[in-house]
Amino acid sequence: MENIFNKKLEDLQTYFLSIGQKKYKALQIYDWLYKKRVFAFAKMTNLKKDLILKLEEDFNIDLIEIVKVQKDKDTSKYLFKLSDNNYIESVVMFHDYGVSVCVSSQVGCNMGCAFCESGRLKKVRDLQTYEMVEQILLIEEDLKQRISSVVIMGIGEPFDNYDNVLNFIKIINHDKGIAIGARHITISTCGIIPKIQKLMTEPLQVNLAISLHAPNNELRSKLMKINKVYDIEALFKTLKEYIKKTNRRITIEYVTLKGVNDSKACALELAGLLKGMNAYVNLIPYNETNNIGFKKSDKKTILAFYDTLKKNKINVTIRREFGSNIDAACGQLRSKEVER
Ligand code: SAH
Repeated sequence: MENIFNKKLEDLQTYFLSIGQKKYKALQIYDWLYKKRVFAFAKMTNLKKDLILKLEEDFNIDLIEIVKVQKDKDTSKYLFKLSDNNYIESVVMFHDYGVSVCVSSQVGCNMGCAFCESGRLKKVRDLQTYEMVEQILLIEEDLKQRISSVVIMGIGEPFDNYDNVLNFIKIINHDKGIAIGARHITISTCGIIPKIQKLMTEPLQVNLAISLHAPNNELRSKLMKINKVYDIEALFKTLKEYIKKTNRRITIEYVTLKGVNDSKACALELAGLLKGMNAYVNLIPYNETNNIGFKKSDKKTILAFYDTLKKNKINVTIRREFGSNIDAACGQLRSKEVER
């Protein structure tokens, strides 16, 4: 029996046709689930009894469970328990322009980036579509507030779970679903080239963010294992194709690690890489974790890095520091729960 939140509107339309019902029933179900937020077939009052029974036979509406919420001034962190007792987390950030949510795409992660807490525990499994959709639904229910943007930057590598992540995006983006505009949805990847190429062919205006974190192969391979498979030259060749094909600006994420990748030489090398590209750099202050030795760069060093990029005409922003008091770095809350 499948969870109903796995289903795109078109999938439900196909389903209803296959059981000899009219296509528009799919819209009725979507309306109950996503507009009225009614999570039981028996309460969907415009459906006939026998159809309710049939739906209950074919689908469940099981919900993942919020087990902990840690609140800070401008961030909240949700720990969810899945039906197989695995844990994932989402981080909510309150901006003056709205509320954004950072969702997880896998239980753990196999990318093994040296500085990242999520990768320390390895991937247990991919999330199914419904487990991502429900992160959004349950947070909206809890906050009694609409979410305005979604970043797929929580635990996991979204491109290692491509089909479910794309399904998730199509559901939350759909007018009749949660209706979050594609331009308000960002996928962040460590750089899995074949999936970047695949994303180019999708008729979806979502944003792409690349976790670069180093301007040369020697350093990047030390920090990110994926660089040994898809190196910087190959990655940038693909990114240039992506920009040309989609006409969209990409984001380059760069976590500044003290004494590792935050020198002026690194900034100059990064500027060289990005010269003339429709891209902007988001400098991310590192969230230190107890289990990993990297330290965050000093404010002064980050500002100098920023200045060097600016002077070289590279668009750059420094990410506001969110939630370091509440273990908001990817995977920190989950690993505490798992290792207790
Ligand atoms: N796997 C995807 C998405 C999840 S990680 C990716 O690599 O992009 C989301 C972002 O958080 C990545 O840029 C990642 O490198 C960064 N990150 C991981 N641990 C961090 C930490 N402790 N502090 C700050 N950023 C971190």
